[in-house]
Order: sequence, then structure tokens, then C-alpha cells
Amino acid sequence: MLKVVKFGGSSLASAEQFARVKAIVESDPARKVVVVSAPGKRFSGDTKVTDLLYICHAHIKYHAPFEDVFEDIAGRYREIADGCGLTQDLESEFESVKQFIQKAPTADAIASRGEYLNAKLMAEYLGYTFIDSKDWLCFNYDGRVDFEKSYATLKELFARAGKVVLPGFYGAMPDGEVKTFTRGGSDVTGAIAAAALDTDAYENWTDVSGILMADPRIVENPRPIEQVTFSELRELSYMGADVLHEETVFPVRQKNIPLYIKNTNDPSARGTLILEEFERESEEDKKRFVTGITGRKNYSIITLSKARMNSEAGFIRHALKLVEKYGVTVEYITSSIDSFSIVVSTKQIEFSLHDLTADLNEVLNPDRIKVDHGISLVAVVGRRMAWNVGVSGRLFATLGENSINIRMIEQGSDEINIIIGVEDKDFKKTIRVLYDSFT
Ligand code: ASP
Repeated sequence: MLKVVKFGGSSLASAEQFARVKAIVESDPARKVVVVSAPGKRFSGDTKVTDLLYICHAHIKYHAPFEDVFEDIAGRYREIADGCGLTQDLESEFESVKQFIQKAPTADAIASRGEYLNAKLMAEYLGYTFIDSKDWLCFNYDGRVDFEKSYATLKELFARAGKVVLPGFYGAMPDGEVKTFTRGGSDVTGAIAAAALDTDAYENWTDVSGILMADPRIVENPRPIEQVTFSELRELSYMGADVLHEETVFPVRQKNIPLYIKNTNDPSARGTLILEEFERESEEDKKRFVTGITGRKNYSIITLSKARMNSEAGFIRHALKLVEKYGVTVEYITSSIDSFSIVVSTKQIEFSLHDLTADLNEVLNPDRIKVDHGISLVAVVGRRMAWNVGVSGRLFATLGENSINIRMIEQGSDEINIIIGVEDKDFKKTIRVLYDSFT
């Protein structure tokens, strides 16, 4: 058995958290590959090391002294090293990091040092071998990961070392320059490592006991989801659930590696298992049709009406071409015989709405164009909805009983999600009442 275990910043923010991580790693001999983030927040109001490093970069960029910020960063690592009784020569490590960032003062190179230093400490603490991610995670010049090369290189390095700690978040361009993923990218590093080594599982350890059925800022104490498919996860993440970095799924999904979300502060909690499909539904999951409910605010609906629109060939295509001209992405399209509506993010049409509607009027000559702002989209996601009659009936009845007006309805043809548009003022209420009705 071989598992890649990735720990997020809050799981590595202090010596105390390091001790928890060590206990977790040592409790399962399969946990031979450990991927670490940089130290995160120790308490609310604290600053993540990665953010401090970006501040450092800004100082260097504007030729301001960066030593004080760097001292704060160094202090974070000293605290961990002292608390864990580590003996490596951190001070000369800091010196070489300083030289490194002065030599190539790019934001990526500087930000990457958070993970680099944390991995050095964790490797000593666990007695594992440190492998620098710039030596195996390769990017192409177009900024995409060179999977083939990365997989082959890590396989070889791992075969020699046996038990390893890898810094998350970064790799190297073909010329050796350090490149990072976007924020939260250590999740991706873990997924690539898991795929490279064809592991039995990829465990992503964080500070919540799995993916929650709804946003805890909206629903009090939402249940964790025990099992979720990759497709459901995609729907949930796209519609706002803050779970994993979006590029995480691809490598593990391709190799059918089970992905677990676990809680460092509560290791015995079940967490969430993510797979392509489930042969057996868990007893808990069988009780409910809905896997999760999420949503986003601030959308606009543009509705074009024209008598006999249905007989005018190419009407919708022309309209969409104009929308495309302004670089606006269409989220959903709904239609009736004489009208059709597109749902777009309000931010995207902020500056172009006036010109866009003028163009639509000129080219399509509709009877009316109506634009409604302040729309929220709420997604009800669940693989078990597909073969259960009555889910949408219950959903609409619930909203009706709670006097929530539905502005738009959309169901994907694979039936794993139902999207409803409501007014922004009803956003939280919609999520709450649906959650209560489906749990
Ligand atoms: N440390 C980086 C960040 O804060 C990457 C990560 O934690 O995944 O975004």
C-alpha cells in the first residue's frame, strides 16, 4: 500500500500542528509520500507565510528593505523547529533563501520558499528524504505541467529514497526557473505525485472533517458529505463550494485514485471520499438524494423577446456571437417560443452592457430586451437525484412554501444538478430551506 498525504497550511502552522501531522503519518505505514504547504494561520488575524512572502516580493520589487518581513517569516520557522526539537542549520538555510530570492526576485520564486522551508523541517521531523519539487515537477514553456516528464522523474527519485517529503505549490520551467500554481496549489502537487506513483489513495488533510453539504457561514453545522463523485465535486466547486484547488481532480481522476479529505485536528472523523463512481452507497448517503447545495450571487439575466423568434433561423447564434464579441461567458441559456434568456456574471458585463444591448438591438431587432441584475444561482447537486422521482417536486414545493420566487430553472441532462435562479436577497434563505428539506 502506498499513499500520498498532503497537509494544508493550517495543519502545519505551528510545532503543535507538526506533532499532529507526525502522529497521523506514523499511524499508517502506507503514508510514505508527504506533501506540505507553507505554514498557514495559527489564529484568526494571523498572516500566512505565503502572504508574507508576497509582501517580501513587493518590497524587493520597489527596492524597499525586505529584511524585517523576512525576519517575521524566519521567526515562524524557528518557532516550529524549536518546538519540534529540530537541529538542522536553519540560519544558513535562511541565508541561502535570501540569496536565492535576490538572484531571481520573481513573485513565484519568492512565494515558493514557504513550502520549501516547511518541507525541509518536516523531512527532518519525520526522518524522510526531502525532494525539492523543482527537481521533479516540470512545467512546459506554455505554463502547463509536463505530466510525462514529472511522473517519470518522481518515480525514479522516489524509488531511490523510499519515504519522502515534497514541498507543494511549485515546480520548474524548462530553463529551471521556479513556477508556482495559483493559490492553494499544493493540492495539485499532491494529486500529481499520487498519479505519478500510482498510489492507492491521495489523502488531503485540512482543518475540516470533509466537504460540507453547505457553506457553514450560511447553514449552521452542515453535515459532512461521506461520498461524492468527481462530477458532483466539479459542479459543487464551480458553483462556489470552496473545497480543493480546481486542478487537483484531473490527475487522480485519470488514474482512478481515491481522494480523501480528512481533518488533521480530528483524524478519526470519516471525512469525505471522492471517486469516479460508487459501487455501494454508504448507509448515510442512501438516506438522502442530495449530495450538496451551494451557490453564487451577482448574476444578471438578459432576456430577448421577439414575436415568432422560433421561426427565425440563427437568432440565438447571432445573439451569442455578439455576447462572445464582448468576451462574456454565458453560464446558462433558457428559452421559450418567443424569448430567450442568457445568464451571465454581472461583473463580466459591468462595462460592456450598454454597447452589448445596442449591438443586440441593431443586429437582431428584438421587440424587447430586458436585463435583470441581482440574481443568485443555487445548485442542488446529487448523483442519486437522477433515478429518483419527485426531487424537483419537493424542491419547488419547499421554495413555494417559503415564498421564494424562482427566476430561472435549469437541469443538466445527466440529472446530477438542478440550478435555480433566485433574487440575491433570497440567496441564503434558499440554501437554508433546501438544506433543511433535503437532510
Ligand atoms: N501556500 C500556498 C498558498 O497559500 C499554496 C498552498 O497552500 O496550497 O496559496
